[in-house]
Amino acid sequence: MEKTLIILKPDCMEKRLVGAVLDRFQKAGFDLIAAKLIRFDDTLLKEHYAHIATRPFFPELAAFMSSRPVLVAAFQGENVIARVRELLGPTDSKKAPKGTIRGDFGTDVSVNICHASDSPESAAAEIKRFFAPGEVFA
Ligand code: UDP
Ligand code: MG
Repeated sequence: MEKTLIILKPDCMEKRLVGAVLDRFQKAGFDLIAAKLIRFDDTLLKEHYAHIATRPFFPELAAFMSSRPVLVAAFQGENVIARVRELLGPTDSKKAPKGTIRGDFGTDVSVNICHASDSPESAAAEIKRFFAPGEVFA
């Protein structure tokens, strides 16, 4: 069964939307298999955002992502990687349709409520990055 990693970003935490966002994933039929609060430090930021670490917006993104504790979680289900990204909508919240998580709750291209893995390879690497094997109840 496919697994994905999600991160409820600082704007989601500050707006107290944890329940609302998790509810969408659960209502879509996905099972929560791991969850905890973490706070990003420099090492974790550079690893998790390696694909964009040289982009001009990285310092601002790093400051945002480390501004408060975030909830990291893993969900499991059929086609969960693609389905969760559909539920999120596009990266830019301003372009995300109403009815998507980012369209309903996000602010812009950076402050966009939730991260989700984009491929089976990144999901496996990201789940391993944030959870010890014994913390995943698959
Ligand atoms: N991001 C940003 N500015 C941009 C593009 C991305 O601040 O122009 C941030 C945003 O928070 C995004 C994250 O970097 O969610 C990761 O970017 P990616 O392209 O992987 O988008 P995602 O997979 O989150 O839709
Ligand atoms: Mg991404």
